[in-house]
Amino acid sequence: MATNQMFNYGERVLLLDKKRRRYLVELVEGGEFHSHAGFVPHADVVAVVEGTVVRSTHGAEYTVLRPTLEDFVLEMPRGAQVIYPKDLAPICVLADISPGVKVLESGVGSGALSMTMLRWGADITGYEIREDFANRAKANVVSFLGEEVLDRYNVKIGDAYKGIDPADGPFDRVVLDLPEPWNVVPHAEKVLRPGGILVAYTPSITQAAQTREQMKGRWLDTRTIEVLHRGWHIDGQAVRPDHRMVAHTGFLTAGRFLGKGEKRQQEEAEAAEAADLHDD
Ligand code: SAH
Repeated sequence: MATNQMFNYGERVLLLDKKRRRYLVELVEGGEFHSHAGFVPHADVVAVVEGTVVRSTHGAEYTVLRPTLEDFVLEMPRGAQVIYPKDLAPICVLADISPGVKVLESGVGSGALSMTMLRWGADITGYEIREDFANRAKANVVSFLGEEVLDRYNVKIGDAYKGIDPADGPFDRVVLDLPEPWNVVPHAEKVLRPGGILVAYTPSITQAAQTREQMKGRWLDTRTIEVLHRGWHIDGQAVRPDHRMVAHTGFLTAGRFLGKGEKRQQEEAEAAEAADLHDD
């Protein structure tokens, strides 16, 4: 995507007003963006480069920008509650997301985490129990990243608590945002490569504790963190933390799967063989 390029119909743009209110607008032929101060014809937006100020029929000014991932996540249409930008980047680092890494994600909700990991290069299989959310996530992901990304984004309708189809794996990573991640841990162990990573986002610490309990023994380097993000007000000599902050979103629990290891696999194979002989 080249910068300084004009906008196209079908694209989403960010309109910023003087009070820094933000509006995400999908440009359609003949469309109009309506506000308290009349409207801006979409045709006026298509004709300009990024950074231009356009004027509504009653004189309100809007700066036209391409939305960043952060803008898009905060303003896009939602079904389920999204994971906020402050947690999205740490999840990608904890899960060590990189180009070509194969990820199982569940649930996909509104697609905020999906589009972040896809942008970091992941190849995602999503398990989502609700078809309407799966469709919403796919539409959001395509709207931000384009149709081509669907080659790396396969959302299935399914209940991750019931199991992960081995044919979908093996996976390098399992990334969870659903109410009972501990129910997915045993399934993750069947489809994760040894050394693979699981990350679970949970609003409550008891969910994190129960997940950690389920990971005991077979997982290495397990940890649970929260990310605190405090903005600062900076205006000349008036420099201080913002009065308000989002004090809580969720906890991030991560661990590396030990797998079975060659020795244990061999022992199991030998035990199975011995049992077979015994049956005969
Ligand atoms: N991370 C997403 C939000 C996920 S919200 C985002 O950033 O946009 C949690 C999602 O998990 C919901 O869409 C819900 O339908 C789904 N879900 C809940 N239980 C599930 C299960 N057992 N299997 C698959 N998906 C499930």
